Amino acid sequence: MTELEAPQQIWQAALGELEIQVSKPNYRTWLAKTIGLSYQNKEFVVGVPNTFVAEYLDKNQRSLIEKVLAGLLPDDVQVLFQVNSFHQSSPAGNGRREQPVPAQQGRLPLFNPKYTFDSFVVGNCNQFAHAVALGVAQNPGHTYNPLFIYGGAGLGKTHLLQAIGNMALSNNMNVLYVNAEQYTNELMTAIREGTTEAFRNRYRSVDMLLVDDVQFFSGKKQTGENFFHTFNELHNADHQIAITSDRPPKAITLLPERLQSRFEGGVVTDIQAPDYETRLAILQAKAKQEAMNVTEDILELIALQVKQNIRALEGSLNRVVAYARLIRTMLTPDLAARALKDIANYEPKAAPVSPALIMEAVVNSFQLTPADLKSRKRDAATALARQVAMYLIRQETDCSLDQIGEDLGGRSPATVSHAYQKIANDINNSPSLRRKIFEIQQSLNPAPNEKQL
Ligand code: ADP
Ligand code: MG
Repeated sequence: MTELEAPQQIWQAALGELEIQVSKPNYRTWLAKTIGLSYQNKEFVVGVPNTFVAEYLDKNQRSLIEKVLAGLLPDDVQVLFQVNSFHQSSPAGNGRREQPVPAQQGRLPLFNPKYTFDSFVVGNCNQFAHAVALGVAQNPGHTYNPLFIYGGAGLGKTHLLQAIGNMALSNNMNVLYVNAEQYTNELMTAIREGTTEAFRNRYRSVDMLLVDDVQFFSGKKQTGENFFHTFNELHNADHQIAITSDRPPKAITLLPERLQSRFEGGVVTDIQAPDYETRLAILQAKAKQEAMNVTEDILELIALQVKQNIRALEGSLNRVVAYARLIRTMLTPDLAARALKDIANYEPKAAPVSPALIMEAVVNSFQLTPADLKSRKRDAATALARQVAMYLIRQETDCSLDQIGEDLGGRSPATVSHAYQKIANDINNSPSLRRKIFEIQQSLNPAPNEKQL
């Protein structure tokens, strides 16, 4: 093997290429949360969050993935999908085969070992956020409580939040990281199953609670109220709380007012888009960290061209490296420029998947009409189709529970959330339902164009 030693790095490069090859929703749903676990004896093991994803990738994208990997590695490989989580993966990437580990009660302990303060590049755009986050990690529960970090997508909020978590973990603190959406889903399940006491105990017994993307609580009255109490109990006990959001507390509408003012009660800081110097520094750090063989002029070229956010910046670097590998040539500035241009051309031109499109695909599959989905009909077939539509809209679009309920004939957000959970569970137990959903899903995201490889 060449400089791409660790399975994590190989997989990063593969993801860079796959991101170009498949549609955005497809990438987001099936590939974004995967990691490279091991590479040994021509067998490449990819860690995936659950069996549903494992099966989908195995059935639908195995050949594409194997082709992409073959372009990056000296040999042809067989790819295996294994349910795993960031937490248990070996950070050093020593190529050792990990034992499959059951996800902790179906939830991912999402600490990514790569998200540390050491790997976070500080620039004008994030200097203050970085300083207070570090302060929180070093002296939790005191100076800045709560810490509220906001900023646009891909600017490093999750990275900073998890850096706090990773440091707290290494200080043996009892720390819990949760995405606000996950918190909401878990609460709904707890209410339905009568296990709210256990839910409560779990969240209120920690030394530190990290909640990512709290804008998701907007409009979710019950969750907002519940979180208010969790927040208070932890805060009163001087336990640290850190929160991120894509907007400042005031701009999160439909949030219980007292929760909003709680969010403002500590330190509120933002992260801005990075300037050129910071973008270049991030690329240099990343190229070094992943032992990529990329010259300075190429990094400068990428830093000049890719401005939106840091995720896009990293993606472009991966893609440029993957591109050179795929066509098996030296990476020159000229080639990098071409790769970046091709990437721009690859940007999905297809219209994003809309709820209407999903509903249409669902009624086709169930041989119903769109009106049936919105109606009050409750026969088994219609009810199932409606739940599948709710599930898929949730998976494939950014619609809120309220919007989905509206689109499906004025159902409540709780009904939508329940349907989502139910289908997510049923999929694991019913091969025929799983197949049906695969088929609908595929009709939404037509198979990627493999001839480009
Ligand atoms: P957000 O949560 O704000 O959408 P993320 O934290 O997921 O963004 O960051 C997107 C990617 O960019 C991650 O891979 C992260 O490691 C990287 N990243 C963001 N900010 C920095 C930084 N300052 N230094 C190094 N990497 C960064
Ligand atoms: Mg994030």
